Amino acid sequence: MKIQITLTCPQCKSTNIVKNGKKTKKQNYLCNACSRQFIGDHALSYKGAHSNTIALIIRMLVRGCGLREISVILGISLGKILKTLEGQQVALQPKRSFYDKLEVDEF
Ligand SMILES: [Zn+2]
Repeated sequence: MKIQITLTCPQCKSTNIVKNGKKTKKQNYLCNACSRQFIGDHALSYKGAHSNTIALIIRMLVRGCGLREISVILGISLGKILKTLEGQQVALQPKRSFYDKLEVDEF
């Protein structure tokens, strides 16, 4: 039985990828389009490093999941979730120019 895995570059989503030696006994790949080196998702041992983890975290935060719930469900650390939150640049656009009270407590 032959299993085929299609790899895409985590940075530019290109499929123009070649093998680039081994790093810590895991196959390393090189993207010919943007020269990014990476290890495929199938070989990663920590779930927080997978390429779709950030999109999952953001989707769960928007749907109202708590930080600890996300950590348990996805099997990743609380620090990864907090770092993802810090990395987001969401611009709030107020409807008025002045408010008496303003509360921002949700993502
Ligand atoms: Zn690339």
